[in-house]
Amino acid sequence: MKKSVVKEFLKELSKIFSENLILEEEELSVFGYDASSITGVPLAVVFPRSEEDVIEVMKLVQRFKVPVTCRGAGTSTTGSCVPQTKHLVISFSKMDRILEVNPEDRIAIVQPGVLNGTLKAYVKKFGLFYPPDPASYAYSTIGGNVATGAGGPKGLKYGTTKDYVLGLRVVFPGGKVFQTAPYTLKAAVCYNLTPIFVGSEGTLGVFTEIALKLLPLPEKRALFLIGLEDEFKGLEIISEVLLSGITPSSAEFVDKTSLKAVLNSRYGERVKKVFPSEKLEGLLFIEIDGIEEEVKKQFERLKDVLKVENRMLLVAEKEDEIEVLWEIRRTVSPAVRSLGKIKLSDDVVVRRSKMAEFLRWIREIEAESEIYICAFGHAGDGNFHINIMCEDDKLELAKEVRKRVLKKVIELRGTISGEHGIGYTKREFLNFELDPFQIEVMKKIKKIFDPEGLLNPGIKFSNGNIFQG
Ligand SMILES: Cc1cc2nc3c(=O)[nH]c(=O)nc-3n(C[C@H](O)[C@H](O)[C@H](O)COP(=O)(O)OP(=O)(O)OC[C@H]3O[C@@H](n4cnc5c(N)ncnc54)[C@H](O)[C@@H]3O)c2cc1C
Repeated sequence: MKKSVVKEFLKELSKIFSENLILEEEELSVFGYDASSITGVPLAVVFPRSEEDVIEVMKLVQRFKVPVTCRGAGTSTTGSCVPQTKHLVISFSKMDRILEVNPEDRIAIVQPGVLNGTLKAYVKKFGLFYPPDPASYAYSTIGGNVATGAGGPKGLKYGTTKDYVLGLRVVFPGGKVFQTAPYTLKAAVCYNLTPIFVGSEGTLGVFTEIALKLLPLPEKRALFLIGLEDEFKGLEIISEVLLSGITPSSAEFVDKTSLKAVLNSRYGERVKKVFPSEKLEGLLFIEIDGIEEEVKKQFERLKDVLKVENRMLLVAEKEDEIEVLWEIRRTVSPAVRSLGKIKLSDDVVVRRSKMAEFLRWIREIEAESEIYICAFGHAGDGNFHINIMCEDDKLELAKEVRKRVLKKVIELRGTISGEHGIGYTKREFLNFELDPFQIEVMKKIKKIFDPEGLLNPGIKFSNGNIFQG
């Protein structure tokens, strides 16, 4: 962009946003990072308060051809909210209102900057429940969750963000607004476009309003925390539980390498106190929930399936005790940092029946390369968080290992991302999974909504995100 154009753009922007605008270089850098190692510096940051504000911004974006990156809480693990060149960043931290919660309709309508945890706590007062629960739920936004297609432990029984979005209001470059569907529980008039925007990583449009389906709050929960002397046993147990007909609300797995990191963390002592065995090799969290009677029945069945008398086991039934134990699981992602300065992070999915084969293969590669490979996560739905950890001197080897891991996932007919998306850090691997025609179709869809490629360029596709056909 020419300097004179930039100057004129910023002048026009300042007319609309006299207050909610950042132009100072030092402050701008605060909006140039996320939870990956990718960094950038925005051209400017704006903080709209309403859809009208977003429309005005998007008119300018189109007029001056300025690339734009949306930002929720900046917890993406893939660089997807990091401006690749001098983009305008739209921060949604001031569009954080819950607009409506209707217990009869069981829906919530929110602005995109509402934190997932805030929504959960608010709807609880109405006896309602918003299930998608990324480990970052306390500090990530609904807009970011929708744009990444976020999931979490409850995905096994309740599904992920995609299963809760009834419709969205989206603004495109030029300021046109589009509502993807009426906010009803059923709708069969328009093409089913809502899912196209879920997981779109800011490349298809800017969300200004999101309607979400809610469920009744489960009356009761119970958590079984199992200590594993053989990490593979954890995967076997999950299969046995599911084959018995029980669908836990969560089945989370902490593998041998990740456990090493947890034991190094501030939760290490807590784990050692609960499971003092020297042979401890992994952890398995199984939670059940539902109406009281149903949980009682499942509880007894689960005890039989788990053969509890032979296990290292802790059972929690009180809300606060359950939450304390879940903290151990939520600490895994930050804790793995103790295993290496560099973290190459993926969230792959294979079919559940292939998980043990995949983990065995990972252990062979780990031994061969002498690089830590963590494989923890939502094992109930086949979603492993693979974190390859190393120091600077092993970076090239680690990158090779990562490629091998992703290729193995494809060989097992899985996917290279279940919930974090592609962003910047995985875009070079898109063609591991998608053939040229699939990529061409994606680019053509993008071209419909964003013909000039102004929305988050550099994200999802490495060689330009517009189809040049
Ligand atoms: C410790 C930790 C644990 C995590 N655990 C999980 C987990 O269990 N499951 C999981 O799925 N993820 C997890 N994540 C990743 C991350 O929290 C999620 O991807 C989350 O959905 C990002 O939300 P955010 O508000 O931070 O969005 P950001 O990181 O700010 O943005 C993410 C994407 O959303 C786009 N976006 C944001 N707002 C809008 C909008 N209004 N319109 C259009 N696009 C928009 C951005 O452009 C970007 O592409 C974890 C991250 C951390 C740091």
